[in-house]
Amino acid sequence: MARIGGKNTAPEMIVRRRLHGLSYRYRLHPVDLPGRPDLVFRGRNKAIFVHGCFWHAHDCAMGRPPKSRLHYWLPKLEGNRRRDAAQADELRAMGWTVLIVWQCQTKKLDELTADLVDFLDGENPDRHRGAKALFMPPDVV
Ligand SMILES: [Zn+2]
Repeated sequence: MARIGGKNTAPEMIVRRRLHGLSYRYRLHPVDLPGRPDLVFRGRNKAIFVHGCFWHAHDCAMGRPPKSRLHYWLPKLEGNRRRDAAQADELRAMGWTVLIVWQCQTKKLDELTADLVDFLDGENPDRHRGAKALFMPPDVV
């Protein structure tokens, strides 16, 4: 079984295939960005992390810590969670917008797709920077 904490995991491949099918272009695990996000959309300054629910301590049924060896697991999982948050903060401070996709979300493909498209193409004032003349709302004129 593939280790969920690694790269090119099954949930990550689901997201990649979906976005590729929708003709989005992205890069994988760029070394120059904090946390090496799983998918990066440079033109949009947007980054996606696909997180395994267990390894990244998601608050869902799949993310529950094991029942034994808690002294081992809890600090480890808490450390992962903190590192994730720090990396996302660092990216945001650099001007990136960050989306976390959880493993459990990849089981509902329609909802996931809607979330992904909304994240990538939803209303975002930064996208229109430098194009104000073309996108001036009528009530401002
Ligand atoms: Zn989850």
